[in-house]
Formats: sequence, C-alpha cells, structure tokens
Amino acid sequence: MGKFVGLDLGGNSINVTAFDGTSFVIEGMAELPSLVSEGPETCVSQLCAGFELALELTKWKKSEITAVGLDTPGPISADGVLCSKGATNFSDKAYWNYDLRGALAKALHLPVSFLNDGNAAALYAHWVQFKDDADKTSVSLIVGTGLGGGVVANGSVLIGKVGFAAELGHVTLPGNWYPEGIIHARCNCGKDNDLESIASLTGIELNLLPYFLQKYPDHPLSAMPINDAAKKVRGFAERQDEMCLAIFRAQTYALAAHIDQMVNVFDPDAIFIGGGVIEAKQEFREWYLENIRNSVPYREEQANLPIVVAPDGDRAGARGAALFASRKLGKPVH
Ligand SMILES: [Zn+2]
Repeated sequence: MGKFVGLDLGGNSINVTAFDGTSFVIEGMAELPSLVSEGPETCVSQLCAGFELALELTKWKKSEITAVGLDTPGPISADGVLCSKGATNFSDKAYWNYDLRGALAKALHLPVSFLNDGNAAALYAHWVQFKDDADKTSVSLIVGTGLGGGVVANGSVLIGKVGFAAELGHVTLPGNWYPEGIIHARCNCGKDNDLESIASLTGIELNLLPYFLQKYPDHPLSAMPINDAAKKVRGFAERQDEMCLAIFRAQTYALAAHIDQMVNVFDPDAIFIGGGVIEAKQEFREWYLENIRNSVPYREEQANLPIVVAPDGDRAGARGAALFASRKLGKPVH
C-alpha cells in the first residue's frame, strides 16, 4: 500500500498530512507558512519543509515514502503547471507557466501527484463516505471566498483534458434560478451569473449585498465599506437579521438550481456542501442545508439524495491530495 504525504498549498499556509494506505496518521492541524508571495523557489522550499514536518510527526523515514500528493487552487494544469497568466494565489510573473509539481518532485527526489484544491477536497469527502467503492458518484460544492467544486464519478475524481474539470463555480446558473426577482451578477472570472457570482463571499460583496442594500437602504451594513460589510453578513444572519437571511436564502436557491443540473448530469449518490458558511452555528447551518434540499426540483427516484456537510473543512485538501497520490502512484496490492 505504501506511505504518502499530502501537502495543501494555500495563499497563506501549507497544510500537511500523512496517509498509510488505510488511514490518516496526523490527527491535528499541521501547518506552516506558504510564503507564496516570496516567489517559486521559497515556495518550493516551504513545501519541502512541510514534507519534513510530516516525517517528524509520523516518525517515518524518507526512504519509506512512496509518493507525495500536492494540491493548490487553480487554474492549473492536470500535471501541476501553473496557468500562463498565473493563478489565484500566484499572480507574480515568476509563476507564469511554472511547473510546481515538477519542481517539488525534483527537490524531494520523489514521485509527486497533483490535484487542484477543489478536486482534492471532493475526493476526501467522497472517500470518507464511500471509501473505494467504484460504484459511487458524488459532487462537492465548497462555499468559501470563491466556490470550489469537485466531482467523483464512479469512484474516480474527474480531472478533465487540461485539468479544469469540475470548475463548478464558473458554470452559468439557469435563467430562472431565483424565484423572487432578477439579480444581475458578475464574477471575477469575467462571466455573468455563474454559481460563484452568488454562492461565495466574493458573490456577496460584488452582487448580493449591493442588490439587497437597495431594498434595505437603512440597514446598518450600508454605512460600511462593502468588503468589510460582506464579511459581517453571516454574523448578522446567525442573529436572524432579515436582509442577511435573504442574502443566504438567495445562495441556497442558486445552489439548488446548480444541484439540479448536477443531478441530471451525474445522478449522484451524495452532494457535499462545505466552506465557511457550513462552519457557522449549527442552527444556521441546518437552515441553509434545509433550504437547499427544499429547493431542488427532484425526480421522485432521486428525492432521497443526501445533501450533507463536507467533512474536516481545512484538512480536506491535504487529505484528498494524499489519497490521490496513493491511487495514482501507490504500489499495486498483490
Ligand atoms: Zn466565474
């Protein structure tokens, strides 16, 4: 089965995990600064330090490690080469077309696999629920600063031709997604009315808050700069504020309309919802999930589709990356 290290490279930190082919052997949160803004060389040496941290925590020797799994936010190729115009956390020119996976493999002298962070989190959520069952299919939607997505179809994570499969945040919403009005929304990716333009913190700031503040001009959030106000919407909603609940209700309509599309494409066994919105107070989380469930126009046969919380928020990326390394680069079991 082998021994695998997972490294989740974020804008601020690297999250580290270790997988022995059966279970994860680092329980708590193991992380270090990613220093992404200091350029590719520093970033790769931080990833190597993350690898050393995994060895220290597991007492494994480097010679015992079969492979390393790396994940980071895209857009990034299926083989871990950053996009020609950089990517979310890699705007510096030194990163354009940079082979992040290749550089780490060279530095560690070990095989390294690559997944984007949405796909890694989706693979982990799927594994927790279904382990290696090759018949199961699931869709993950992570509502954070952006909208991270992933699809595991018949047990395998979908990667696509160039590695951009399951960029679900940038799938355009159907025209009738919002039954209570018309919201003109734009996304940072350049598209209008895609899922991320509504179901993300960025969507609240760019689109939902400006739309609803017109209806509630005296709301206390109207007096604040929009980026600060957007971060406070969840707290207000948890305290039952009418406008902020309407903002999240709009997100649940958008997610339900998107899930309807996913149900008709994949006929999945489960939908996982994760991200900051799900890490809120339990009562709010339940209200959010229930509103999604109640707004999906199911066919009778699919009406019992579980729409559930994605597990282990911040650790899911590293764990999914390690799982992928074990599947792609692990030694076959005889
Ligand atoms: Zn978009």
